[in-house]
Amino acid sequence: MKPPEVDRVAASRAAVAARRARASVKRAVNERRLSAVAVLDTALSSTESVEATMRVRDLLLSIPGLGPVRVDRIMGRLEIAASKRLSGLGVHQQQRLREFLVKRAPRVEQPEQSRLVVLAGPTAVGKGTVSTYIRENYPEVLLSVSATTRAPRPGEVDGVSYYFIDDDEFDRMVAAGEFLEWAVVHNKSRYGTPRTPIDTALSAGRSVLLEIDIQGARQVKAAMPEATLVFLLPPTWEELVRRLIGRGTESLEEQERRLTTARVELAAQDEFDHRVVNRDVQAAAAEVVELMQIQKAIDLHGKE
Ligand code: 5GP
Repeated sequence: MKPPEVDRVAASRAAVAARRARASVKRAVNERRLSAVAVLDTALSSTESVEATMRVRDLLLSIPGLGPVRVDRIMGRLEIAASKRLSGLGVHQQQRLREFLVKRAPRVEQPEQSRLVVLAGPTAVGKGTVSTYIRENYPEVLLSVSATTRAPRPGEVDGVSYYFIDDDEFDRMVAAGEFLEWAVVHNKSRYGTPRTPIDTALSAGRSVLLEIDIQGARQVKAAMPEATLVFLLPPTWEELVRRLIGRGTESLEEQERRLTTARVELAAQDEFDHRVVNRDVQAAAAEVVELMQIQKAIDLHGKE
């Protein structure tokens, strides 16, 4: 049976995005902004991650100083076939590769300080666009994938945009303590941040970005006071309304509900550590990432 057109278009768009994201991870390893061990750890902690679909050979080739001849010799020694992807490794292969990477791979040049950044702000301010831009252009930052009970919108991919789950599964995850935070957003659906991928990334020294609502941001600050809270602002209120209506994917009733939430959310900006105005996606993304690095430098300085 042929999949419907919309599914095929979404699938091919997802494949292109995945390829681009893998290239960007490799570039980060090559430029020593990201360690190869962190890439392996992410791949093993989430089979849905971009890293999981990366070939072992490509990861090794992205390490500065390793050419194809040496990489093939190393893969032979590690007993890993040339076509293997990170998610397809057996337990012993994982161990051998990890040992090799820890010993061989150069250290990343940036200080490896754990950092959790929460990006919040009113509805339609462009948090999703800014965080997607960060995921695609700054692979050293892990963008957390939330779970939600709302239905997918056209083009959204399960495991990439969100984990789309039903109420029973959400209840189970809440009861099992699997969320770092969760909230009912727009008085409607539930959204939550799975805890495990974040703990794994932070302990591997990666920066983590959460794009969540303000109630979630408050919960994260309470649970992890070291988290940095960033509030994304629209250039003006009129611009926010224009963006909200312009999206055109929600009913009038839904738009009204979102405007009400946005007014309340804007009032909370003073609770945040930093404010970033979203005039231009690229500039706003760079500012958020820069905040992570400034914060790292302050932390390091503080320890001297
Ligand atoms: P949307 O349904 O438009 O994708 O998202 C609606 C809102 O839910 C956005 O403000 C988004 O930031 C928020 N959200 C997404 N994931 C989470 C989450 O894991 N926790 C919380 N608290 N809010 C989330």
